[in-house]
Amino acid sequence: MKQELLNRFLSYVKEDTRSDESSHSIPSTPSQVEFAKKLVGELQNLHFSDVSYNADNGFVTATVLPTTKKKVPTIGFISHMDTADFESRNIKPQIHKNYDGKTIILNEEDNIVLDPSEFVNLSNYVGDTLITTDGKTLLGADDKAGIAEIITAMSYLIDHPEIEHGLIRIAFGPDEEIGRGADHFDVESFASDYAYTVDGGPVGELQYECFNACSAVIKIKGKNVHPGTAKGKMVNALEIARQFQNALPSLDVPEKTSDREGFYHLVSVEGTVEEAKLVYIVRDHSASLFEYRKDYLIKVAEDLNSVFGDRVTLELADQYYNMIDKIKEDMLPVEIARKAMEKLSIEPIIEPIRGGTDGSKISFMGLLTPNLFAGGENFHGRYEFVSLEAMEKATKLLIQIAQEAVVSD
Ligand SMILES: [Zn+2]
Repeated sequence: MKQELLNRFLSYVKEDTRSDESSHSIPSTPSQVEFAKKLVGELQNLHFSDVSYNADNGFVTATVLPTTKKKVPTIGFISHMDTADFESRNIKPQIHKNYDGKTIILNEEDNIVLDPSEFVNLSNYVGDTLITTDGKTLLGADDKAGIAEIITAMSYLIDHPEIEHGLIRIAFGPDEEIGRGADHFDVESFASDYAYTVDGGPVGELQYECFNACSAVIKIKGKNVHPGTAKGKMVNALEIARQFQNALPSLDVPEKTSDREGFYHLVSVEGTVEEAKLVYIVRDHSASLFEYRKDYLIKVAEDLNSVFGDRVTLELADQYYNMIDKIKEDMLPVEIARKAMEKLSIEPIIEPIRGGTDGSKISFMGLLTPNLFAGGENFHGRYEFVSLEAMEKATKLLIQIAQEAVVSD
């Protein structure tokens, strides 16, 4: 299983499937369509059923037929095909067998190294086979580890009909990294009772809490006058922008918060005396504090408008919500995953995600979808790596979850 998993993973990461925020097509890049079609071919060769590519939403879906006549919930496994906004051309995965715990040289020429004193997580992988980048690109374990694990686990089930499990559905989607892919996911035709995204980090991660999230765009109109004769006449849009930013609590920022603490994150400022624009993202695990944060932005804008005369407009756009608010109504998928981990002696790591997953959107579409570890570390950059043994554990977990669903019924 290990070799099969490794081969699959290496062949996937070599494909450039970066998504593109500025594109309006679905998927956002043609390379994702190409990759999706390759996956379709592979799934057909491996005798999956109902293999299809949906050109409207960019999702590849397939079915593993049940081996039991018992009434078992249909389980879905989902991961994403795109990679994050970082160099993804010419990915050259490097394999380090039996990792010795020392510094790994990624790129000698540019002196790019994975140093365990900087990345303490490396110490968890001594003796493992590590797959790293060559220092020039990301790796794409996020989330091609998930795809390799799902296909390897499900093809194992297809080859072992003596293992009792219910109907299983799988889906590989585009554009997770730009926060759009799941918007077009067809929950109805996926027809599962519960699903899991396989898109988490280290072994044990089991996540069903995430942020509530919105963006806030503040546009400010100023009035430009020659600075020599500006007294009492000029309205500097940049000065209003400064006051807006200063009105926000200075400790509620990403770099000063952790766990379940929310924030306002100023992501861009542009402007002149004549006009200015501030873009924020707002995050909070608590639905009520999330609403409070949005109300607070509205209040700041109103305050400034009352001082400067209607010059500030605020646009709020919700992005995703904390899935716990749906999942708490039926914790069965979490319990199934927890029991499956227990059987494999994997200690569950249950912590709120400081971000979102496709599963948060899908949960709000009516399909409860917690997130499972895929095994990778240091996502979204050149220091990304994954242990083959961690990927093997994730693969075994998916096989175990399929069996646990039978017991849980
Ligand atoms: Zn991911």
